[in-house]
Amino acid sequence: MLENKNGMIFGVANKRSIAWACAEACAEQGARLAFTYQGERLKENVEKLTADLQSAVVVPCDVTNQQEVDTAFETVGREFGKLDFLIHSIAFAPKEALEGEFLTTSRDAFRTALEISAFSLTQLAFAAAPLMKDGGSIVTMSYYGSEKVVQNYNVMGVAKAALESSVRYLAADLGKQNIRVNAISAGPINTLSARGVKNMGAMLKHIAEKSPLQRNVEAREVGNTALFLVSDLSSAITGETIYVDCGYNIMGI
Ligand code: NDP
Repeated sequence: MLENKNGMIFGVANKRSIAWACAEACAEQGARLAFTYQGERLKENVEKLTADLQSAVVVPCDVTNQQEVDTAFETVGREFGKLDFLIHSIAFAPKEALEGEFLTTSRDAFRTALEISAFSLTQLAFAAAPLMKDGGSIVTMSYYGSEKVVQNYNVMGVAKAALESSVRYLAADLGKQNIRVNAISAGPINTLSARGVKNMGAMLKHIAEKSPLQRNVEAREVGNTALFLVSDLSSAITGETIYVDCGYNIMGI
């Protein structure tokens, strides 16, 4: 499905990362992939994980460092010649902002969360578009806390609301270049980042009890939806937020 397609994946920290589930799904369908990592401590992890993939490219990229972003895209442009898809699977908020009341969010925490978790999508789309010479697909990861209040999710919910809105504005701007932009709103999954949200265990249990499918979503199910969104099967879908949450979001009382 993705033979002769090149993709760039942001946000692999380890094998539990949603980004890694996306990478596995895309690699199985023949995509050639480039991975970015944030900071030297993750370099070895990402290199080990990707060692078995055919001709994967691994480059450093902390999205708060514009020079690193520029260099990452230069390297990928040189190695691949063109880019067909980009998967943005990164987010961050200081730990103290992910517990207690949203009301106490500091200016610094707000700025950091919004910059890394929301602005970075626009930053990466701007850098990727010139490489998407035959059109392309950009996919990001969101969460239900963007539209409803989820205890402890706090400023990350506000960042995800900005992210989902960015998806719509970017889709409008990039449509004329046949570049599609979509978000996946994933149900909670036990990853490194998720552990930063207080009471994650209780949240997983609640979803398993209340969602129509009566279970939690698996990372691979999110990966498969990302595969659909970066493939030509979704060629008329852009600007959307697609729920992959075992149906939790449709439930009222
Ligand atoms: P992971 O911790 O595995 O992935 C998060 C990634 O973001 C890490 O690779 C992290 O690197 C990276 N990151 C953080 N700050 C930066 C930065 N400044 N520059 C570049 N990369 C950075 O967790 P998930 O796989 O769970 O998260 C992936 C995405 O999915 C996030 O957007 C998250 O909000 C979203 N999501 C997660 C859900 C869940 O329940 N797990 C549910 C719905 C959405 P590092 O480790 O170095 O910080």
